[in-house]
Amino acid sequence: MATLRFQALHDAQHRSMQTIEEIQRRSALFNSNVFDQQKMEQYLTREAREAIHNAIEKGANIDRKIADQIAIGMKEWAIGKGATHYTHWFQPLTGSTAEKHDAFFETSSDGSAIEKFGGNQLAQQEPDASSFPHGGIRNTFEARGYTAWDPTSPAFIYGTTLCIPTVFVAYTGEALDNKTPLLRSLQCLDTAATAVAKYFDKNVTKVYATLGWEQEYFLIDKSLAASRPDLMMAGRTLLGHASAKGQQLDDHYFGSIPTRVLNYMRDLEQECMLLGIPVKTRHNEVAPNQFELAPIFEEANLAVDHNSLLMDVMDKVADRHQFKVLFHEKPFAGINGSGKHNNWSLATSTGVNLLSPGSTPMKNLQFLTFFINTIKAVHDYEELIRASIASASNDHRLGANEAPPAIISVFIGSQLTHVLDELEKVTDGKLSPQEKTELKLNVVGKIPEILLDNTDRNRTSPFAFTGNKFELRAVGSTANCANPMTVLNAIVARQLMDFKNEVDGLIDTKKLKKDDAIFNVLREYIKQSKTIRFEGDGYGEAWEKEAKKRGLSNHKTTPEALKANLSKKAVTLFEELEILTPTEIQARYEIQIEEYTMKVQIEGRVLGDIARNHVIPTAIKYQNLLIDNVKGLKEIYEADFKKVAKEQIQLIEDISIHISKINQGINEMTQARKDANKLKSAEKKAFAYCNTVKPYFDEIRYHCDKLELMVDDEIWPLTKYRELLFTK
Ligand code: ADP
Ligand code: MG
Repeated sequence: MATLRFQALHDAQHRSMQTIEEIQRRSALFNSNVFDQQKMEQYLTREAREAIHNAIEKGANIDRKIADQIAIGMKEWAIGKGATHYTHWFQPLTGSTAEKHDAFFETSSDGSAIEKFGGNQLAQQEPDASSFPHGGIRNTFEARGYTAWDPTSPAFIYGTTLCIPTVFVAYTGEALDNKTPLLRSLQCLDTAATAVAKYFDKNVTKVYATLGWEQEYFLIDKSLAASRPDLMMAGRTLLGHASAKGQQLDDHYFGSIPTRVLNYMRDLEQECMLLGIPVKTRHNEVAPNQFELAPIFEEANLAVDHNSLLMDVMDKVADRHQFKVLFHEKPFAGINGSGKHNNWSLATSTGVNLLSPGSTPMKNLQFLTFFINTIKAVHDYEELIRASIASASNDHRLGANEAPPAIISVFIGSQLTHVLDELEKVTDGKLSPQEKTELKLNVVGKIPEILLDNTDRNRTSPFAFTGNKFELRAVGSTANCANPMTVLNAIVARQLMDFKNEVDGLIDTKKLKKDDAIFNVLREYIKQSKTIRFEGDGYGEAWEKEAKKRGLSNHKTTPEALKANLSKKAVTLFEELEILTPTEIQARYEIQIEEYTMKVQIEGRVLGDIARNHVIPTAIKYQNLLIDNVKGLKEIYEADFKKVAKEQIQLIEDISIHISKINQGINEMTQARKDANKLKSAEKKAFAYCNTVKPYFDEIRYHCDKLELMVDDEIWPLTKYRELLFTK
């Protein structure tokens, strides 16, 4: 026995070791399916390359003739790599990605076959997309929306298809996707941040937002997942009793990655490498069968595309390995859910991370400027951030006694808190030379370059500064990062514009020196944004009370949270920055609120079905067994049978109680659904689903889970938590 066991362990370890060759091979694969700079040099003229460069750097348009040239080069490369089709790849408001494949192949007028893909096909397409959500912008009868090439995200080959990242807009110009507003917000942020960065370095010509996401997920055996209608239809378990062992031992988090999972991860990483997704880390997460994957950070638009693509690749690779990936924020009750941390920062064209403290007081003043402005932006628009991460599935995570709460706050650590406290004391107006020296030497000058001390990290904060970037941890694992990133970019852009105006104002009117003016404005911002800063335990009840006192919002459900998007403040912000028009805002709101209703509706139906058609009949079957048993005992023990059959009789009664509670719950829930469906307003309907339908879920589940504990394991039809979570 022992030798077998050791042999198995040896094999497992051997399989999990990456050889040097494998690592080298993998780096050689990087970007090989991406039409990157190297391929452009090979396949495009200098003129075409310059046009793409100008489009990326300056947002310049690419004219049709050049587009033709680019298309020819791209096609040649793609066909050489075995591609037969091309598609405009875009991110509609459903949250996933969409594609419609067209063959390169076309017949020419003389009947011969040619391969056709020109500038027209590259630049613009009109997918027959009448059923993508559009929130009333685009009349379904017209179905006039088109996709247009986004040259800032390179084309790639996926399978045998050349995928061209695109935006998706209505003919009237309104955005129908996640990418369009993101690109607009990046543009704004660039303009605003570059103007401020020039205070410190005149050579800065462009500022990019950077994003490094961390994707959490569960991996479940495919056939086991397929045996659960709730996992298949709703992406989460709607019932299921907790297994005796959950995550209490923390053994999964520190444990080695199971071999089968490791094989999946390797295969996945290989695919990612080909597609240019720079995946770097992988590890187990807190819950059993929960894992995380993170790439090296990239320019935000590309990072968003890569995350969307990754989720698709993860699904496909999982299928090959007989796994199902669960992206849902809370697939299992009672154990950790999944998130998608969004690490965000700002990088200049000169290669400087604006949120990284530097080695000189001047560099640190630059750091503090961007740092404090970000905090102020979050303070002023916390409700918009909350709204940007709202979804039916993320509601199970936010504020539901788990990381992070539905209250948005900023954690900065004790060192920076101290720095801000000192800055708050800066004199109003012109600073004395002595004060300036003191500040530069002892406060600003003393910010350590790398503040990555792990002991100073607060895992319960939804928005934490982690040394050289902010980490928005409240994003849901199913989410498209575009939405929260659009909001973050927008509010920081707005804030930086205001900052620049105020500083310039002080320089002009009060004749302050530039750094005096900056210190003065920052001091006011520190005071004004204090309430958003919180260093304590974000999960505690005490924080909820405290946050309420501070006037911070605490929207626990999606319908509540989404309302912020319609506020005057939000509409003004997005309209002034030309990121979203009021029509686009309204359309997005409707789509999200309707999606919420549909998600809860589906869950209600699935739960009703499982409870009534799987759980109750099984319980009755078992109850009949017990009844037969009691009858038998009565035959043998006659008058004494009640004593002998006491437990069984009790069980029979208990089962009846649970069955009737379940039935009652389903009936009432169905009625609540019918009432909600009668409501005309989409908003009212969402609130009704949230407040009158959803509460039945827990009630029904409670009784089903009790039955799971009573009924014979042999006849219980649903795969149990312990089997879903511990099968490796
Ligand atoms: P953790 O938060 O798990 O301790 P790290 O601090 O190493 O891990 O980084 C987490 C993520 O932050 C990585 O995915 C990385 O890509 C991202 N990241 C690092 N620097 C930046 C940056 N300047 N901008 C955006 N993301 C970044
Ligand atoms: Mg993290």
